[in-house]
Amino acid sequence: MGAEKDELVVAFEGAIRSHADGIDAGPKVLLDAVKSTDAKWADVNIQKAKRVVKAIREAQGAQAESNSKSEKVVAKEKGAEGLCPKNHKLTRFIAYSLGCCDGCGGKVTTGDPMWGCRACDHDLCEAKCHKNQGSKKLLTQFSDVIEGLQLKIDQAVAISPTQEKLEKLLDLIKQETVKHEAQIAKTDDKQLAEEAELRVEEVELRKGQFVKDLTAVHAKILVAIEAGVRRPEAAQTA
Ligand SMILES: [Zn+2]
Ligand SMILES: [Zn+2]
Repeated sequence: MGAEKDELVVAFEGAIRSHADGIDAGPKVLLDAVKSTDAKWADVNIQKAKRVVKAIREAQGAQAESNSKSEKVVAKEKGAEGLCPKNHKLTRFIAYSLGCCDGCGGKVTTGDPMWGCRACDHDLCEAKCHKNQGSKKLLTQFSDVIEGLQLKIDQAVAISPTQEKLEKLLDLIKQETVKHEAQIAKTDDKQLAEEAELRVEEVELRKGQFVKDLTAVHAKILVAIEAGVRRPEAAQTA
């Protein structure tokens, strides 16, 4: 039954291709065309023809839809190789504003690691769409968070309409910073070294740098509070 039906579908597809109006010629005209190709279709009735034409129409619709989606699918597949759809190498950066991923359409927030091609203005999230997904080492995560915190401060300064709002946002960032410090402190150096394939001494150095960077984050928060609300143009000195 299945095979027979497929054969009939193929016969209809052939009739659609040969007819000037294509599928719009309608089931009756197409059925006549199919019958003229082979005597074995003599028993196919108009109801069956309608069903087959409808199925072909639906399949075409699905095809058209998947063609429009394929841009994203291609973006994701290429991202898995670390490339943009035009085969440029993607470079890593930390998102400094809200946006969305060109691969999965997912929301991107300030501080998220991304991979982008500037020539094509093509950006993919690291979490789902880049080949580095899931393989991110803790040390890299730590420095991402720090970079993200810095950017969040800049953003808070740029968007806060009042001093009160600014201090509220900065207080949240401060809490995040403290939490991050605690997390770095409690992570085992040996585990970090193994994961990153570094010597323990190197991990200690990296951690020392993180502590300095986080101190700088705290200082930046204080400076931002003291400077108060400014217009975004003036915020660049921060
Ligand atoms: Zn994505
Ligand atoms: Zn590109």
